[in-house]
Amino acid sequence: MKNILKILLITLLIISCKTEKSNTAIAEVSQETLGKHIEVLASDDFQGRMPFTEGGAKTTIYLEQEFKKLGLQPGNGDSYFQDVPMVEIDGTPSKKMKISGNNQKFDLDLLEDFVVTTSKTDAEVSLENSELVFAGFGIVAPEYNWDDYAGIDWKGKTAVVLVNDPGFQSGDKTLFKGDEMTYYGRWTYKFEEAARQGAAGILIIHDTKPASYGWNVVQSGWSGAHLTLESDTPKTDVAGWISNETATKLFESSGIKNKNFNELAKNNDFKAISFGLNASVKIINKIKRDQSKNVVALLPGTTQKDEYIIYSAHWDHLGVGRSINNDSIYNGAVDNASGTAALLAIAEAFKNSPQQKRSIVLLAVTAEEQGLLGSAYYSEHPIYEPKKTVANINMDAFNSPGPMKDLTITGFGHSEMDEYGKVKTVAR
Ligand SMILES: [Zn+2]
Repeated sequence: MKNILKILLITLLIISCKTEKSNTAIAEVSQETLGKHIEVLASDDFQGRMPFTEGGAKTTIYLEQEFKKLGLQPGNGDSYFQDVPMVEIDGTPSKKMKISGNNQKFDLDLLEDFVVTTSKTDAEVSLENSELVFAGFGIVAPEYNWDDYAGIDWKGKTAVVLVNDPGFQSGDKTLFKGDEMTYYGRWTYKFEEAARQGAAGILIIHDTKPASYGWNVVQSGWSGAHLTLESDTPKTDVAGWISNETATKLFESSGIKNKNFNELAKNNDFKAISFGLNASVKIINKIKRDQSKNVVALLPGTTQKDEYIIYSAHWDHLGVGRSINNDSIYNGAVDNASGTAALLAIAEAFKNSPQQKRSIVLLAVTAEEQGLLGSAYYSEHPIYEPKKTVANINMDAFNSPGPMKDLTITGFGHSEMDEYGKVKTVAR
């Protein structure tokens, strides 16, 4: 990814250069500048750049200072900052999920059989005898004529869904995108869609192959406190995962005739089916609120100055943690002092070049390591109109090994930027 970004970056510099003044060379991105800023940002003084810490605050102040020194304008009205309100939710789920119905009663064990979390900030959230309904892949995709939620009032119910999307291992490239996972296949989408449908809960059935990670990853990744954005978007009370064995047990205890749940939902004529079982589980929350900052600067363009190219990089890293060889500071020189330094070096190069037609925005976002929260906040509260934003070039862990001949595009087919990458690949 990082190589492409670098190539895209070079491409854009070349494109902008050509369209502006073909006889005036654009200034080079200075390696020295890159090195200088990486050294500062990754120094022990910055304490691993964790949001909500002194090191985090130091980082945003440093970026503001450097943008000012370069003579860039504040990117958010008269400020270089965009406040990002966040909330830390530390939820403790009950040790058991109680299942009843179809003349049966049994308990599922936390971590062993299920994990649950919540994005709600209430002191306590719960499912109380919530009807479990199998909702296939949990996908509503009109462009594929697909709706796993159709025909059911989801209020109070819990959707149980499969990971990935119907295209995976279908052998059919026209079914969604075949083996290439669409956004519909991601857990984030599944949680969001269940919430939009008004469901009380959502449980994803884990499966190692289509998920591409084991149950142990779910166990460790979905325990403990998590940071999220304060937002009004709909949320289910409870969201989580169940193991494949647990799903098998639910199907066996259910009134659903076809127990082969992996095959059940592969056609668009699939209709959601009730298990005839109800689930109860509770989460007690500890809530903490704070805000961090995105740092944003502007270099106005000339003839197309109301069109924007955003260069972005997350400034945060992991802070101070478990000590390794008596060193507890996670300096994050590569991830992502390098990308952040690149923002400053690119800004400097633009500053030393003929003024661009389009405006350049430098955006250093916060809390990427907590789930891309700074970027999510920016996209929900864009400072520059999305339809006027021509491109966003993000740099996460800038290419440290040096020039490359080969590259692969992660997420190929999801952006018009692929085309620019191609042009450059051929030209090199
Ligand atoms: Zn990163």
